[in-house]
Amino acid sequence: MQADILATGSELVSPDRTDTNSLWITEQLNRVGIQVRRKLCIGDDLALVSQELARSLESVPLVFITGGLGPTEDDVTRSAIATASSRPLQHHQALEDDLRAKFLRFGRTMAENNVRQCMLPEGATALANPRGTAPGIHLVQEKSQLFALPGPPREMQPMFTELVMPHLAGLSNAPKMSRRILRVIGLGESTLDERISPLYKDCQNPEVGLLFSHLDIEIRLTSTGQTEEECNQLNESLALKFYAEVGSQIYGEGDTSLAEIVAKQLAKKEFRLFILDLACSGLAAQRLLECDATLQGSWAGSQSPDWLEKQLEAWLAADPSHCLLRIEASPAENEVRRFQFQLTGAIQQELVTALPGDRSIQDSRAAQCALDMLRKAV
Ligand code: ATP
Ligand code: MG
Repeated sequence: MQADILATGSELVSPDRTDTNSLWITEQLNRVGIQVRRKLCIGDDLALVSQELARSLESVPLVFITGGLGPTEDDVTRSAIATASSRPLQHHQALEDDLRAKFLRFGRTMAENNVRQCMLPEGATALANPRGTAPGIHLVQEKSQLFALPGPPREMQPMFTELVMPHLAGLSNAPKMSRRILRVIGLGESTLDERISPLYKDCQNPEVGLLFSHLDIEIRLTSTGQTEEECNQLNESLALKFYAEVGSQIYGEGDTSLAEIVAKQLAKKEFRLFILDLACSGLAAQRLLECDATLQGSWAGSQSPDWLEKQLEAWLAADPSHCLLRIEASPAENEVRRFQFQLTGAIQQELVTALPGDRSIQDSRAAQCALDMLRKAV
């Protein structure tokens, strides 16, 4: 079964915003065996949105549109659905009562503009939106179903999961699809591939892809099967083999980041850490603090290194449970810098790594090395 996704909003065809809704929706659809045939980003243009909606409604059984459900003149989705389906907009008093009650609860008076949000194309039903003002819309038009969802992801995603998914379950007999991502740190690209390729090279399901960046390596497992459980099972059995081979280098799964994992470990153990970073612009500390601004420690940089080192020695002498991470680098030779990471105090460890490439990429990789050292030590 196929679907089209239309993301509307003039900000999505400007350089300022990326359409992430269609990616998220595609992933949910793939899981239940629905493939996306095409997706479009269209500005707040009533004629164009109507035209593309009409084309989709004629040619695919499932159409999703996000954004443009707000109360203002530039929110064109309701009118576009009315035009594309040749159904007049009708006012629903029950929706208006709900909306007025919602405003009252927020302690605000409702602008008359908002009454527009209580209009639905004839025959459509509203999808409740407890997280915002705009209800979604569900319309069955001949052989197609259309779902209009709010633009903000925090409203759209729960509406999709709670109110759209139940309509989709069982619609498609096509194979289901499931993705699992294992995140690897501390192994080079070719080393990782050398070690794990014997485990997957003859395997077609799941498909395995490796995605490299200066933050980590993703091992992406994508399996298809008759049910979601079957897919998960296929992913699981291959993932277990990867864990057996390179488990200590797999720091997490899915959306998580290395800094997030390390920040949690540090917080849980109430670890006092000082980072004296003379090499990679304070990036390691910055990444930790972005995850948890309350972490204890001192994150060197603004003071002179000599002063700081004396200070840190004094701290370590006073309380040996403190830990100091010192990061230094040699000057670049042929675009290669040697980084030295040294943990002293409560934990003693040393790591030396030579990193080639561009300076900012070296800094980023070095910060990840430092975080990985902490992950293993703490
Ligand atoms: P509102 O009542 O907030 O106006 P709406 O349904 O009209 O809701 P839009 O005005 O289209 O939604 O979008 C509101 C905000 O939602 C946008 O500024 C943007 O931040 C976010 N947004 C909209 N569409 C997308 C998208 N496709 N991907 C990611 N974010 C989006
Ligand atoms: Mg809007």
